[in-house]
Amino acid sequence: MPEPDDRAEGAPETQMAKLVLALRSQGVTDPKVLAAIETTPRPLFTQELFRDRAYEDSALPIACGQTISQPFIVGLMSQALKIDRRDRVLEIGTGSGYQTAILSRLARLVYTVERYRTLMREAEARFKELGLTNVITRFGDGGDGWPEQAPFDRIMVTAAAPEEPKALLSQLKPSGILVAPIGKGPVQSLVRYTGDGKGGFHVEKLLDVRFVPLLDGVAKEL
Ligand code: SAH
Repeated sequence: MPEPDDRAEGAPETQMAKLVLALRSQGVTDPKVLAAIETTPRPLFTQELFRDRAYEDSALPIACGQTISQPFIVGLMSQALKIDRRDRVLEIGTGSGYQTAILSRLARLVYTVERYRTLMREAEARFKELGLTNVITRFGDGGDGWPEQAPFDRIMVTAAAPEEPKALLSQLKPSGILVAPIGKGPVQSLVRYTGDGKGGFHVEKLLDVRFVPLLDGVAKEL
């Protein structure tokens, strides 16, 4: 449990301003990314039970045993992707849809895949409520990417891939960028793959992260 002092307090605008300051001090400095975070109400994406903690810089539980990512990680991954306004972005692991909403404010089109039907439906309702018209959703196994819509300018994976995600890298444009947590254990490396334009990749390890695993197939439960 956080100490009372750590708990976000005050009006939503005050809490949001504090969150944005905290992210900036940790290295999320891209003004477009910060603006996207500032204009996306995180409480809409959390469960009722955790709504008063929505402006905390922490991951929180969502339905189906999954998590909404920590705002710092969302900011950092969005920044690492160096998204251009004209880009078509593929996201694997819609979850709450929070990261999707941020991407939708930075890119032209966002394609997002989720293996839980319930999470997909809830996220779709949120996109509708926010009037996000450039998000295209799919219920399915994102490990295979979205071949019919490839190639993508950018790809973001928000669940941990056990190793280099070859199928996804093959759906990236030659000079595209993919960011994904890579690793089999509870702690993974956030890795950025930047296409060299000739079929190869420049690979950078950005930091240690903790994501839920990327699982095969669609979930049997709702
Ligand atoms: N960006 C989300 C993170 C959700 S956690 C958010 O901030 O809310 C990761 C999500 O990836 C989970 O919802 C999980 O169900 C999903 N996932 C895991 N493996 C997947 C796969 N193979 N295809 C699609 N989604 C997957």
